[in-house]
Amino acid sequence: MFTVLAATNNAHKVEEFQQMLDFMKLNIIQPKDIPDFPEIEETGTTFEENSGIKALESSNFAGLPAFADDSGLAVDALDGRPGIYSARYAGEDATDSERMAKLLRELEDNTNRKAKFVCVIAVALNGAVIQTFRGEVHGTIAYEPKGSNGFGYDPIFIPQGYDKTFAELGSEIKDKMSHRARAMEKAKEFILAEMGALDEFF
Ligand code: IMP
Repeated sequence: MFTVLAATNNAHKVEEFQQMLDFMKLNIIQPKDIPDFPEIEETGTTFEENSGIKALESSNFAGLPAFADDSGLAVDALDGRPGIYSARYAGEDATDSERMAKLLRELEDNTNRKAKFVCVIAVALNGAVIQTFRGEVHGTIAYEPKGSNGFGYDPIFIPQGYDKTFAELGSEIKDKMSHRARAMEKAKEFILAEMGALDEFF
């Protein structure tokens, strides 16, 4: 079985990746499975840079092909914030609820609720980032958190075409249309096209 490193310890993200990559016989391991795995700083200014840094440093340390994602929520009326700072938006140790509360406070009753989730997946192999893939899902910000599925900002994000939040819709619907699913779809197409006979690798 082919082993790849998913360069994240976010259990929710790993679960989403595993479900999306279920069709390939992959052994997906995480940084926590590797002793002394270093803390990787996200020093970039774009989703592309940050995912590239995470994938490359992880791949180099582990000596394995690695993929990493950098994702976040960009709100129109907040000039794209929190964007790449989505995880750190309300301070390093804040909870998801605190981050959502801060965002709803900043937006107040602004009627422009447009927002998008962005996910960029970088794939690194043999000392280089070989490609990045961007997926986006557009929607609006709810006036209060609703639903209990998913993670992060899911309870306040209503994807276009629905009247419920990602947290209410649940993973079956979210995983078909999310920013992460769309980026992963592009990554899968690339892997299939570039590597041709997948059997050689998996
Ligand atoms: P990072 O990609 O680990 O730097 O963190 C991105 C942050 O954006 C997460 O901690 C969440 O707060 C948020 N985020 C990213 N993807 C999702 C998602 O699918 N649902 C809800 N929040 C998300």
